This record gives sequence, structure tokens and C-alpha cells, in this order.
Amino acid sequence: MQLRPEITAILSRAGAVACGCAMLHGVPLRDMQALGLWLDSGHNAGMTYMANHKDIRQNPVMLLDGARSIMAMAFNYNPATLRGADMPQIARFAYGSDYHDVLRRRLSDAVDVMTETLGGEYRICIDSAPILERYWAEECGIGRRADNGLIAVPGYGTFVLLAEILTTLPIESITSSDAGCESETADRKGRADAPRECVHCGACRRACPAGALQPDGRIDARRCLSYLTIEHKGDWDDTGRSAMQTPAGRNTLFGCDICQRVCRLNRQTPASEIAEFQPIDHITSLTGTEAAALSQDEFSRIFKGSPIKRCKLAGLRRNAVNTLPDTV
Ligand code: SF4
Ligand code: SF4
Repeated sequence: MQLRPEITAILSRAGAVACGCAMLHGVPLRDMQALGLWLDSGHNAGMTYMANHKDIRQNPVMLLDGARSIMAMAFNYNPATLRGADMPQIARFAYGSDYHDVLRRRLSDAVDVMTETLGGEYRICIDSAPILERYWAEECGIGRRADNGLIAVPGYGTFVLLAEILTTLPIESITSSDAGCESETADRKGRADAPRECVHCGACRRACPAGALQPDGRIDARRCLSYLTIEHKGDWDDTGRSAMQTPAGRNTLFGCDICQRVCRLNRQTPASEIAEFQPIDHITSLTGTEAAALSQDEFSRIFKGSPIKRCKLAGLRRNAVNTLPDTV
């Protein structure tokens, strides 16, 4: 559903390229079963927290007393320049500042304005609450799931970060009946001639270096370079090591964008207008050799405020050593 133009304007000023809303309701069994299947097959690898709080995931009204509606939004993080192709790769979302901090700061300001003008209570969710964000992004009409497992926003593709705001306001208070404002932000700033939805061409699955991307768009994290270089703690097991020893794995310092880079939905994604997501020089120029030799002090200083701090020094060193030629 479309948000009232004044709310769209507030979220657009916060940097959202698409936003929409829906009435809060229980998540259908089908979507909960898909999550259960993913967990049962062990595809969550070490992300055991994904099995927690199923009751809240199914019924997100539990996240905010009296919650009645949800707003979902997407933020373009595509950087203006890319790391050199001859350097081990860092996922684009990690070129700039940590999106958790950036989006929380921006959305807190937006919520302050909404509280003042509309009243109501709000809760911001940025990977910080057990909520099926891709389900709600579709429900709110900001994009559709693509076969690479991500939400594709018309005009922007999948290089977007999702966030949600729950509110006690009823849906009638935040929606617009003006059909003309549909996808207002996306159509205004994005490339209207870019494909709007996944065309199921299979390029993402064929490009995935270790077969992590399943035909149904689910990701087997045990083989996914993103999981293995960001979330996984300690040494890789045999499955992880075989993924990390593929040519792409040997060229991965932190995270993986391969299934997004090959996707036609992303060929015309403009550069992000969010200043905090612009590439930080010492991150984009970091070599594998430099990363492997970092001390704890250097790591803490260089990656303060960066998403790369998530893998900690030991994780980055492990990834970096794997990129060096003499580890073959
Ligand atoms: S590469 Fe093709 S199948 Fe994969 S998400 Fe993009 S359009 Fe869909
Ligand atoms: S992020 Fe990389 S390894 Fe993971 S599913 Fe996509 S292409 Fe495969």
C-alpha cells in the first residue's frame, strides 16, 4: 500500500528509495514453513539465532505494544566506485559505514518527525528484531523477491538494504488513496527503463561459485562465501573450505556480490546518494597482504563504524590469508 505523501517525503529525506506499508497480520504458514525447511536442512549453518523467536517472526505485533501497521523501506547502497578487479573482493555494502548505525540514525530522525506530526508509537527494525523482512517488503509493495534470494526494487535492483518501522497508527492513518504516487521515490530517482522483476534467467545460480544458491532462491549458507567470510567463526569445515578454495573464494576478503553482479536487474542501479555509504579509501584500497598483517589496534581503528568489524580480526585474517598466493 502507498504511504501518505508526507510520510513518503519524510522517508525519502532519510534516504529511502522506495517505501510502502501494510496492516500488521500473522505471517502465512507457507512462509513460516519455508523458513522451517531452510532450518531443517541445515542451510542456516552457524546462524542458529535464525531458529529463535519463531512466535515473533510469525506474529510481529509482539514487537511493539499495540502495533497495527508496518512500513517497509529500501535504501540503495550501490557505491559510486568499485574496488579494483585485481584485488580480493569486499561486498559493496561494506565499502562505507555500517548500515545498522547509518539507517538507525536516519530513521530515528524520521520517527521523531512522524511522532510530532502524526502521533503514535514506533519501533525501528534494521536486522535488529526477528522479523521476516523480505515477506514484509513484498507485503508493503516495495519490491519482489528475486531468484538470488533478495528483494528487487524497480529501478534499483537488489543492491538495497531493507528496514521496517512498526507503528501503533492504524493503516488508514498512514496510507494514501492517491494511486498516482505509486513507487514515487523509485520512479523519480531510479532508472525507470531497468527490468522491474526477476526474469528467472538463472544467471545468479550459474555464477554462484560453490552451488550455494538453490533453485528456489534459498541459500545454503554452508557454501556461501558471504556467510563463510562474515558470519562464520573459526576455521571452516570441509564444505566451507572447499567453497573458499574455489577461484572466487580465494578472491574474497569480506562478503560476496557475485549473484548480484551478474543480475540484469542491477545493470543500471545508480550510485547511492547516501553519503555514509560512499567508499572509504582505506577500505577500498586494503590488500589481502595488508589485511593478513593487521594488529588488533589497527583493525579496531580502521574498521570502527564499518560492517567489516563483524568478522573480528581473526575472521578477517583467516579470509585474507586464504587470498594469498602462497596458501595454495
Ligand atoms: S540473475 Fe536472473 S534469475 Fe537471478 S535474480 Fe537476476 S533476473 Fe532473477
Ligand atoms: S553471495 Fe556469493 S556464494 Fe553466496 S549465494 Fe551469492 S554468489 Fe553464491
